[in-house]
Amino acid sequence: MTDPVIIVGGGPVGATLALTLKHKAIAVTMLEARAKGATYQDQRALALSYGSRAILEKLGVWAKLDAQATAINTIHISQRGSFGRSLLKAQDHDLPALGYVLSYGALTKALDEALAEFNDVKVIYEAEATHIEPALDAATVRFDQASTSQHLSSSLLVLADGGRSLGDISGIQRETKMYGHDALVTKVKCELPHDNIAYERFTPMGPVALLPNGKDFSLVWTGKQAEVAQVMALDDAEFLSQLHRHFGDRVGRFLSVGKRLTFPLKLSYLNPVTAPHLVVIGNAAQTMHPVAGQGFNVGLRDAYELAQQIAHTAPEAWGQNAMMRAYQQDRKTDTKRGLMFTDFLVNLFSNDIVGVSSLRGMSLGMLDLLKPVKSRLVRKMSFGSRG
Ligand SMILES: Cc1cc2nc3c(=O)[nH]c(=O)nc-3n(C[C@H](O)[C@H](O)[C@H](O)COP(=O)(O)OP(=O)(O)OC[C@H]3O[C@@H](n4cnc5c(N)ncnc54)[C@H](O)[C@@H]3O)c2cc1C
Repeated sequence: MTDPVIIVGGGPVGATLALTLKHKAIAVTMLEARAKGATYQDQRALALSYGSRAILEKLGVWAKLDAQATAINTIHISQRGSFGRSLLKAQDHDLPALGYVLSYGALTKALDEALAEFNDVKVIYEAEATHIEPALDAATVRFDQASTSQHLSSSLLVLADGGRSLGDISGIQRETKMYGHDALVTKVKCELPHDNIAYERFTPMGPVALLPNGKDFSLVWTGKQAEVAQVMALDDAEFLSQLHRHFGDRVGRFLSVGKRLTFPLKLSYLNPVTAPHLVVIGNAAQTMHPVAGQGFNVGLRDAYELAQQIAHTAPEAWGQNAMMRAYQQDRKTDTKRGLMFTDFLVNLFSNDIVGVSSLRGMSLGMLDLLKPVKSRLVRKMSFGSRG
């Protein structure tokens, strides 16, 4: 009998890992700081690639989500103040959809329900990890639950806490670049139907995306923190009319807006982890700008690929150097591409230098004509480095 794999953080990435391991009959203990069901009403819109759907399908979760997900059949990319634009269409790439929009709450609920179908799965809710100590024979996590401090050790401990909760852990070094920009996310109702088109519009303030979500759109409006704070302070009517000026006429007038939330944008990644018996996945391992909807999908692939690695490694070798190196090697290209691609887009499009701006307009127009380049882009966005 082997130690269960311990997962710290039962968000979508941690829960996907737990579920994939359970499908392989590998024992898991998952610690989650929140109460069970606390996220089910979270309307935050996640952009799932077609490859992420394929993972959720293999895990038997997609059937429950299909009716709640909105397909993205076309991505319309444009730049404010120029005529160049590019269209990516699912049908041109033999895909049923380029991606899907799904609420965070729907996804976490479906994953939790799928996990609960395994009688022996151990999820400890309201258990907040406070300290992680990797060592040569095992990694240990201390956590607080019901005002008592406890600890668990395993030859494989996986950190999937979204990267916000724990301080320094020996053997883990994070590089972070703050963009100084915030993303404002909310839902908006528009005059025209979305026809399953997602819009990505580059503006000097920063990229703005409208993602079809149910009958409405989810909006991601990015810009310098002070600019976003100003937009955040507007009343609904003024917000909608500024959004119209900012985004243009493609979806008609903006009719109503939901609750607005902001979060700071950063690029963050780990230097190669040297801590034995500890793997970091999902947003805890890398955080990227939401410009191309890559971050969550890279995290989901982390979970899925790590489960394959665990299943293919003899339990006595879990968390040892060879396994840790193999996992890092396996994920390196995908993670790097996601980080570089999103950072490149942000840097290229977030300036208003004359000349650069018209070149970008021309490039978007040219991208529209270059079928092989578009196909490659769609494959990488859908399936990561294996595309
Ligand atoms: C406010 C906000 C809005 C966002 N909006 C969008 C969006 O519109 N579109 C999009 O694609 N992406 C968005 N993102 C990013 C998206 O949420 C992440 O890509 C995705 O949630 C990553 O999943 P994860 O499981 O790695 O981390 P998380 O979803 O952060 O999950 C981490 C889990 O770990 C738990 N946890 C944390 N600390 C501890 C601890 N110490 N002990 C035990 N458990 C712990 C948390 O309770 C949580 O359940 C947003 C992020 C934020 C913060």
